[in-house]
Amino acid sequence: MPASLGDDQKSEIIDAALTRLVMANHILAREDIIDNFGHVSMRHPLRPDRYLLSRSRSPQVVSRGDIMEFTLDGELIGEDSRSPYAERHIHGAIYKDRPDVNAVTHHHARSILPFTMLDISLRPMFHMASVIGPDVPTWDSQHEFGDTNMLVDSMEMGHSLSRTLGKGRVALLRGHGAVCAAGDIRSVIMVSIGLRDNAALVAQTLAMGKVTYLTDGEIEKSSNMLLGAMPLARAWDYWVARAGYGRL
Ligand SMILES: [Zn+2]
Repeated sequence: MPASLGDDQKSEIIDAALTRLVMANHILAREDIIDNFGHVSMRHPLRPDRYLLSRSRSPQVVSRGDIMEFTLDGELIGEDSRSPYAERHIHGAIYKDRPDVNAVTHHHARSILPFTMLDISLRPMFHMASVIGPDVPTWDSQHEFGDTNMLVDSMEMGHSLSRTLGKGRVALLRGHGAVCAAGDIRSVIMVSIGLRDNAALVAQTLAMGKVTYLTDGEIEKSSNMLLGAMPLARAWDYWVARAGYGRL
């Protein structure tokens, strides 16, 4: 970000980011990715060492005034007595470990949950799911932390999860849910929806026969195409309309 930006330009950039983050909350709720729990964040557009995330609130009702700013260690910027999400450390740890990631979702979409505990691959089986990437690893909090309340509520746990995510876009959490990470907010929505749909379709296919997963080459070429400007713009228009924003 050029240092020469004026105050007006800076506030315009922040304003646009906040609008998009609020809309992302509503879209992900509408698409049954996040429900009463789960969250979506973005890296601060002007301060890469900070991120933006709602206070602890159900995503469907998040508004501009709910968005808080955190350091990557999860410390709240400014005075605010409202409760943050206990699991915000998922976001900070991934932003710290992955400079290429600028948006993160954490959710418990029901179709993925069986795959968090079964040794069945969630590799993409159709082109729209290629954006999740070829590998879908599973993080099991038992391995390092034993019996917990299942929440990722410390930076130590966040970094442990981030190590399982590695350089990928998706990791499952055993008995809990998933994290999705991408370069921008529209891409992370596409990844989250692709993961949800792939899980449902793999389960449906397994009931009928053998799954034929996409090849590495098909995954790479399809995901590069889908995460391009035109498909993302077209998908975003569809999602915002479905989320109740009407025709833009
Ligand atoms: Zn959770």
